[in-house]
Amino acid sequence: MAAKKQLMKPATQKVVKDAKPTEVEPRVISDEEYRCTCCGHKYKKQETNFGRSKSPIYKGNNGFVSICKNCVAELYEQYVKFYDGDEDAAAERICQITDMYFDLDIWASSRKISESRNGKSRNRISTYISRLNLSQVDGATTYSDTLVRRWEANVENAPTVEDVAKNDDIQTPEEVVRRFGVGFDAGDYDSMQYEYQDWVKRYGEPMDKRQEELYVSICFMKLNLRKLLQKGDSNIGTAANSYKSQIDAATTEIEDRKKKAEAEKQLSPLGEMIRDIEEFCPAEYYKDKKLYADFDHLKEYIERFMTRPLRNLLTGSKELDKEFSLSDSEE
Ligand SMILES: [Zn+2]
Repeated sequence: MAAKKQLMKPATQKVVKDAKPTEVEPRVISDEEYRCTCCGHKYKKQETNFGRSKSPIYKGNNGFVSICKNCVAELYEQYVKFYDGDEDAAAERICQITDMYFDLDIWASSRKISESRNGKSRNRISTYISRLNLSQVDGATTYSDTLVRRWEANVENAPTVEDVAKNDDIQTPEEVVRRFGVGFDAGDYDSMQYEYQDWVKRYGEPMDKRQEELYVSICFMKLNLRKLLQKGDSNIGTAANSYKSQIDAATTEIEDRKKKAEAEKQLSPLGEMIRDIEEFCPAEYYKDKKLYADFDHLKEYIERFMTRPLRNLLTGSKELDKEFSLSDSEE
């Protein structure tokens, strides 16, 4: 009788009010499969089976090439045969197919690594892909960058300014190559020339050779700084400091010279004449023959203020300077 009573009325169980069971979070394991577009194999993981890519054509594929690593290696072998043993051509073809940047330096270094690991260059292209992803090749990521670099190398490889002038493929103006010297690529010239023009805009056309050299050296330093930064070079601090002090020194000097030139200009007309000669290239005077003939008005000066008074003194004439004599028509 007592046991039956207990079954009908169970003892009150202790519960935790704030610990009621809630929904169960799924374990973070994707059941998605990644099919290789070449062999059709389905992989569970992209990270280990496909090469990473920065090409926009793989952006929607989580940034992975759609051909598996096995297939890329296999395709490479096939293309080596196709190009009659030319590994460079085969690698470049793989880069075209997968929209990858083809960097000759990394490709060369991948040979050594592949050989030292297994004695033959079988997985050389796989080594290349992982090396390419590790190193930041100045922002070069796709095969288009290979073509851009090749185009830019036209000017980079020109041995003289004359060769630059003769080569119609080179778009960098001869004047720019002459200013900065040969041996830079088109992108370098563009950024240095942009910087140079910026200095001209802010501080004026160089008054002389020295000022031009100041501008040019600042452009060099800025380019160098940018390259160190892109490489993640540890010397960046030193380079940044010397760039800053060069700018400080240059701006102080240019401003001092400007002030000095202004003062000289006010002091003597001769100063203005010198400034004019420095500011305008002689070609200006060739165009205007009259200007060139007596551009400093020295002849006129001599006539008006030396010959005329002397003539008056010697002959007793009363010829006035043209500034003070009124002609009939002006009366
Ligand atoms: Zn595959």
